[in-house]
Amino acid sequence: MHQLVFATNNAHKLRELGEILKGEFTLLSLNDIGCSDDIPETGDTLEANASQKSFYIWDRYHTDCFSDDTGLEVVALNNEPGVRSARYAGEGRNSDDNVAKVLSSLYGKDNRKACFRCVISLIIRGKEYLFEGRVDGEILKVRRGNAGFGYDPIFRPDGFEQSFAEMDADLKNSMSHRGRAVQKLVAFLNDEFPHLQSDQ
Ligand code: IMP
Repeated sequence: MHQLVFATNNAHKLRELGEILKGEFTLLSLNDIGCSDDIPETGDTLEANASQKSFYIWDRYHTDCFSDDTGLEVVALNNEPGVRSARYAGEGRNSDDNVAKVLSSLYGKDNRKACFRCVISLIIRGKEYLFEGRVDGEILKVRRGNAGFGYDPIFRPDGFEQSFAEMDADLKNSMSHRGRAVQKLVAFLNDEFPHLQSDQ
């Protein structure tokens, strides 16, 4: 199977993506290719950050790769935290702090609409392709569930009763921002590069 480097060491994301791409591609992490760099993410948009990460790998390793950048966009917060989702509560703070900041920023506000948006930058033989996946929903008033990661306990996708953190991985992947972006990536690879799957 053709190898694709996923420019992340986030174990949750690797597991999610590994499940989605299973049987089609061999997914390698940054650890797998011996890259321990702290890859810069200095863009103002999800697209810019995703591109920056995948070109960082391409420029140094010349291997087909992709990276993603995700943001939680909350309507009543002017689409914040957006590109700052990972560090919304400040540098060195964790997901729990970020979740607490979203909850307190929304305190007393009626409009709790939000979406997760994920942009994937794929580089095949030096050429970049971008894919976007999005899921709309609302921010709950309290955390619910223990599965998943990040903002999952406070995000309920439209059409479902459960938060992302109350869903099993298959259900979340079937509708999530990243799941949708990856489905587009897989469809693209199948259409445009069908021979890659049988490469050694
Ligand atoms: P990243 O760009 O994928 O690293 O994500 C940026 C921030 O969004 C991180 O703080 C993650 O915790 C959060 N995030 C990304 N994907 C998800 C998800 O599927 N559920 C909940 N939070 C997420």
